[in-house]
Amino acid sequence: MKYVSTRGSDAGTTFSEAVVKGLAPDGGLFVPEEDVCFSHDDLAEMLPLTYTGLAARIMSAYADDFTADELLECAQKAYGDGKFPEITVPVTTLDGSLSVMELWHGPTCAFKDMALQMLPRLMVKAVEKCGEKKEITILTATSGDTGKAALEGFRDVPGIKVMVFFPDGGVSETQRLQMVTQEGSNVSVCAIKGNFDNAQTGVKRIFGDKAFAAELAASGRMLSSANSINWGRLLPQIVYYFHTYLELVRRGAVLFGDRINFCVPTGNFGDILACYYAKKAGLPVGKIICASNTNSVVSDFIRTGVYDKNRPFEITMSPAMDILVSSNLERLIHDASGRNPEYVAGLMAKLSSEGAYTVDRATQNAVDADFASGSATEAETMQTISEVYRGFGYLIDPHTAVGVNVYGKYREASGDGTRTVCVSTASPFKFNASVAESLFGKEALRGVTEADIPGLLEQKTGEPVPKPLAGLFQKKIRFTDTVEVSDMKKKAEEFIYE
Ligand SMILES: *Cc1c(COP(=O)(O)O)cnc(C)c1O
Repeated sequence: MKYVSTRGSDAGTTFSEAVVKGLAPDGGLFVPEEDVCFSHDDLAEMLPLTYTGLAARIMSAYADDFTADELLECAQKAYGDGKFPEITVPVTTLDGSLSVMELWHGPTCAFKDMALQMLPRLMVKAVEKCGEKKEITILTATSGDTGKAALEGFRDVPGIKVMVFFPDGGVSETQRLQMVTQEGSNVSVCAIKGNFDNAQTGVKRIFGDKAFAAELAASGRMLSSANSINWGRLLPQIVYYFHTYLELVRRGAVLFGDRINFCVPTGNFGDILACYYAKKAGLPVGKIICASNTNSVVSDFIRTGVYDKNRPFEITMSPAMDILVSSNLERLIHDASGRNPEYVAGLMAKLSSEGAYTVDRATQNAVDADFASGSATEAETMQTISEVYRGFGYLIDPHTAVGVNVYGKYREASGDGTRTVCVSTASPFKFNASVAESLFGKEALRGVTEADIPGLLEQKTGEPVPKPLAGLFQKKIRFTDTVEVSDMKKKAEEFIYE
């Protein structure tokens, strides 16, 4: 299996090279050159596999410069060794047609762990295979979840350091504490004076600094990214769609071969794109439903064929989906346009000059064939959290609630009664203030501090605070710096050369 950039360069790139490089030199994203196809018999053979075994089996089709044993070892380190509970991805059925897959049982309580526990293992081996001897520093800007998951995934990994910048005041208190109390000898965390976009732009500027790159190379060092533009982050996400399908078949909830739908709360379009790759590879999937919060730029695109980021950026209670440029959409457009790199490069140039583009009819039809979409307001999100709890005794976080709400609207509008799996992307305890307000109302929380809310939620719902979050408010704070955006490079340099 070889990889190529969505904008046409670097044909013949190996899996390992794609993981180490992250982004293609022409600014495009790496995609597999050929389709992977698992037959009906292949799927049947996957039925008895454990999550770890399944991960190795699926990934082997895309990462053929890794041996089966290497992939199994990576999967064991990522999902075994006590990193996740016995059941890696629990699937819960709420009513006749709606199930939920919980992707947040890893060390940081968000679905990013599914990929960021795997990426470091893949990267260490990929670096070896590419003969790369430099010390790597992973630089990441985060709106909350990616940063913590990257810190936890790369902590104490030999030969790799990790530094995270987050917007001061722009993440939940739980998210902030998770990051600034991070343990490990190769990690650093720094707040910046600005919003997430400022942090992201600052990191991109450091990546684009050619002189700095040359200076680093001369001293045996290099930078890399843990963002979802990296194929090594997307690949592990394909696995859980297979897992959940097979699990529903094992339970007798789905007849082997019958299709199911997935509904995915979407930000950077990584998680949902993995579902698309699963479908392309032969998983019986009907509609893939894209759920947005009020930053509905991607779901509007799926509905209209027009991508237009010239609109206000809204701050919502599902901050991991507050985004106006969904990087991974480029991979879908590449595929839906019949893999036309010139066409993709043209659209992306338009996006950066005008902030908008419109796809042609054929591309839009191809997208329509697989996807549906919708969005949820803040009030609808809160109402869904409350309704799902009252109706099923089941606690969900605001991101998951956006998905469940959009699924309800889709089902009503389309009449499609196919069993649908909503993807649950974070523990409700990670966004406990919004969840508690949705359930008990603002009044009930008057005078309650953020540190007390997890206990209150646990006491009122009987759901235990997840282990990684328990005691967070008592943990020792290791990182206290806040810098101007203009000082990010200086801060990164201090850490890299430390
Ligand atoms: C990152 C994230 C999302 C969005 O996932 P994408 O792959 O960026 O679309 C949704 N929910 C939570 C909790 C997240 O952390």
